[in-house]
Amino acid sequence: MKDTYRNIGQRKKLVEEISSKGIKDKAVLKAISTLPRHFFLEKAFEDWAYQDKAFPIGKEQTISQPFTVAYQTELLKIKRRDKVLEVGTGSGYQAAILALLGARVYSVERHEELYLKSKKLLASLQIGNIRCYHRDGYKGLPEFAPFDKIVVTAGAINIPESLKQQLSIGGILVIPVGKDGLQKMIKITRLTELKFETKELEMFRFVPFVKGISK
Ligand code: SAH
Repeated sequence: MKDTYRNIGQRKKLVEEISSKGIKDKAVLKAISTLPRHFFLEKAFEDWAYQDKAFPIGKEQTISQPFTVAYQTELLKIKRRDKVLEVGTGSGYQAAILALLGARVYSVERHEELYLKSKKLLASLQIGNIRCYHRDGYKGLPEFAPFDKIVVTAGAINIPESLKQQLSIGGILVIPVGKDGLQKMIKITRLTELKFETKELEMFRFVPFVKGISK
């Protein structure tokens, strides 16, 4: 895999575009300007990799739009060493962005093929601190809980109680919730053992959050 001067230039433009759309967090923008997004797409899509769009990655799934990745990541306020659960590894792009920000990433994917592919890719990129699991994200990863941050990258119908319960006190869960392929971004902060604060944010379109795993 090659990262050319052209690719670097394309990323610079992409960063300008998403910052003009409202992303302010410098560390997030830097991670996007550092990570070659074309590594996460099929060769046929290489020329499109730096458009601010979602693209197919197989199994009817998509790599999220860079703006959406930046938006969710900004909401998480990642600090170095944060333990982060990502639901929906997909291409592995979001997991890599989180790791570049210094997070210890645990990422789960329900499609075995996507899980195997992104696990291999992420290992080859040697970013470190990313663990991949072929699991149902509805259940989270109870054996590694609590998490400082949890991000769901598929559109949910409701907020799984199991994910809320796997947040540490002060932890943040970012999850798109809605019906008919249209979701509202929700940010939940765990204030105490029993108290959660919920903020409703902007509308997005994600592929569906589906229960159970698939071969
Ligand atoms: N974060 C990804 C976005 C992939 S799209 C990226 O950066 O490329 C969302 C992913 O969520 C899809 O790969 C889909 O298979 C996965 N997904 C949907 N429901 C899931 C579930 N219950 N558990 C784990 N992964 C799930």
